[in-house]
Amino acid sequence: MTTPHTRLDATHDPALRSWVPSANAEGTDFPIQNLPFGRLRAADSEEPWRIGVAIGDQALDLQRAAASGGWSADIVALLKPLAAGDLNSFMAQRPAARRRLRAALSAALAEGSPSQARLAGCVRPMASLEMAVPCRIDDYTDFYTGIHHATTVGKLFRPDNPLLPNYKWVPIGYHGRGSSIGVSGESFRRPKGQTAGPDGTPQFGPCQRLDYELELGLFVGLGNERGRPVPIDEAEDHLFGVTLLNDWSARDVQAWEYQPLGPFLAKSFATTVSPWIVTMDALAPFRAPFTRPDGDPAPLPYLDGEANRRAGAIDLTLEVWLHTAAQRERGEGPVRLSSGRSVEAAYWTAAQLVAHHTVNGCNLQPGDLLGSGTLSGPLPEQAGSLLELTQGGKQPITLPGGDTRTFLRDGDTVILRAFAQRDGARRIGLGECAATVLPAV
Ligand code: CA
Repeated sequence: MTTPHTRLDATHDPALRSWVPSANAEGTDFPIQNLPFGRLRAADSEEPWRIGVAIGDQALDLQRAAASGGWSADIVALLKPLAAGDLNSFMAQRPAARRRLRAALSAALAEGSPSQARLAGCVRPMASLEMAVPCRIDDYTDFYTGIHHATTVGKLFRPDNPLLPNYKWVPIGYHGRGSSIGVSGESFRRPKGQTAGPDGTPQFGPCQRLDYELELGLFVGLGNERGRPVPIDEAEDHLFGVTLLNDWSARDVQAWEYQPLGPFLAKSFATTVSPWIVTMDALAPFRAPFTRPDGDPAPLPYLDGEANRRAGAIDLTLEVWLHTAAQRERGEGPVRLSSGRSVEAAYWTAAQLVAHHTVNGCNLQPGDLLGSGTLSGPLPEQAGSLLELTQGGKQPITLPGGDTRTFLRDGDTVILRAFAQRDGARRIGLGECAATVLPAV
C-alpha cells in the first residue's frame, strides 16, 4: 500500500525555484515545494470565496488561474471545484489525482515556465486578501496524543497516577464542536461559565484560567463508508494535510465539568486553525520513524503496521509566541514561550488516529478535522500550554519587561508557528495560527 506518503518526485526537488521572487527567499514558509491550499478573497470585499495556493508572500488565485486557460482536460476538471471555492470536493479525490494537480501547479509556478505570462495576473499579494477556514468542517475530533502533556496534566490532577491505564493502548479523544472553529487573525470573547469556588460552591462568571493548547490539525481527504473501517496501511490515503490548531481551554470550567464525560463548554467556545492546509504530499520529505520507548506495549494489530513504524511520524518544529497588549503599546514584538518537536511529543501517529477513529465503523468525511492533542515536548520548557508552563497556575512565567502570566489576559494574542527542515530538502512552514482574547461581555 502507499501509506505513509514518503515518495519524492520533481515537486520536492530542493533546487526548484519559482518565478514568484518571494517564494525563493530563504526563510519563507511557502517555497514552491510547499503549495498549501487556503480559501480567500479580497479583504473587506463581497468577492466570492475561492481557493488559492500560497507561494512566497503571494497566493495563486485558482479561480483566475482556471479562467486563464492553458490546462490539460484532467487539470481543468480538478480545478473546477477549487475555482468555485469548494476545497472539500478536491480533498475527496484519490491521492494520485491530488498529486497530478500538485505537479501541474509546481510546473506552472516554476522558474522558466511558459505559463508565467498567463498566470502573472492570477497571483495576488497575501496582504491584500482575507482568509476563511479553508474548508467546510462537518465534524471535529480532538485527540490526546501528547504523552508528556497527558503525564504533566495528569500529575496536577492525580499525583499518584498521572497516566491512566488506557493511555498506551487507546488513542484517547473526544468529539469537539465544528461551528466554533475560526481562522487565524480572529478575536473571541473570554468565555463565561460555571466553576467550583474555593469551598466547592459553584460560581458563575468570566473564565479566570484561560489557556491555549498547541496542536496540529489533520484534515481528512477521502472519506470512508459507514461500517467500513480504514486499515492502518490505507489510513494516509484518507488524509489531506495539516494545519496548526489552537484548542483554547477554560481550565477552571474544565476542572468542574469534565467528569465523567470529558470536555464540553471548556473547549467549545473557540478553536483557531491556520489558514493554509499543508498537504501530506508536501510533508513527504519530513516523515520519520515511529518508535515507542523500550518496555512500552506494542500497539494492537489494527494500530500497527510496517510502514507506520518506518515513517508514520511527521517531523515538525512547533513554537508558541505571545504578544500582549502592553508589548503592542510599547512597539515590541511577540515573545516565544516554547519550542519543541512533534516527533518527541506524539505517542500516536496520524495513521493510527484514522485507523482507530474508523475501527468501529464510524465514517469520516472530506474536511473532517482531527486535532492531535497538545504537543508538549519532554522538557518542562517545551510545554504546549500555560497549564503546564506554570504548573497549574502556581508558578507564574515572567515576560521581558517584567510582566507575568499564569493564564491569559484580555488583549493577549497567541501565535502558533511550525516548520519542517532537514538536510537535502527545502524548508517549508505551516504559516501562523494567531488569535486574540477579548474581554468577556
Ligand atoms: Ca486539546
